[in-house]
Amino acid sequence: MLLNSPLLARVRGRTERTHRVVTGDTLDAIGRRYGVTVNALRVRNHLPDTVIRVGQTLIIPTTSVHSTAKADSVSTLLAPAIAATRRLSIQSRRWKFIVAHHSGIEDGNARTYDREHRRRGYENGLAYHFVIGNGRDSGEGEIEIGPRWTRQIQGGHVRSEEYNEHGIGICLVGNFEKRSVSAKQMASFTALVDWLRTDARLGLTPSFTVHRWVDRNHTVCPGKHFPYSALKERYALA
Ligand SMILES: [Zn+2]
Repeated sequence: MLLNSPLLARVRGRTERTHRVVTGDTLDAIGRRYGVTVNALRVRNHLPDTVIRVGQTLIIPTTSVHSTAKADSVSTLLAPAIAATRRLSIQSRRWKFIVAHHSGIEDGNARTYDREHRRRGYENGLAYHFVIGNGRDSGEGEIEIGPRWTRQIQGGHVRSEEYNEHGIGICLVGNFEKRSVSAKQMASFTALVDWLRTDARLGLTPSFTVHRWVDRNHTVCPGKHFPYSALKERYALA
């Protein structure tokens, strides 16, 4: 993150930075310049997609430990996923499962995990379809949409071929062997799962599971503090 210059530290908390779009700017480049995610820019500026216009003024959201994103409601956090999905042709018969993961570390976001997964040899990069931030390298409860979702291709998040082929992988940033899931992260997660399971336009009826139930005896993911029984009840598992 690129947030520690004295000037920014001084203004942060009182006023948000802005950026006036010039020719050649893309959301991606602006995000990299200010150390924020494309998703965070879209949520903060209520952009339905990644289109920006020259002359437009964008608010640069504050991120990291100094987050002032409290005002973001869950529906605002879910909006980019819904907007991005509306443009896709969803293979409704394909997605039979939703598989929950934790990242096992507190650092990182969709971009850094994508880099790591490519380094490990995954040619399609980020192995999950969605990543939910913890407020460190992306917003707390921010839902990042992975390219495997926008491309509607298989995940690489479990050993089981069946579950990679037919499972929507959702990763919560954090290590839930060591701490509980924050209320905000959980609210985003359940909103995302609820939407995937019930939106009639998607036409999906995936069952809910977690990594360690799929790859038994191979992983503790998503960690002992993940609220299994509450989710079992919510999604009526056997
Ligand atoms: Zn996992």
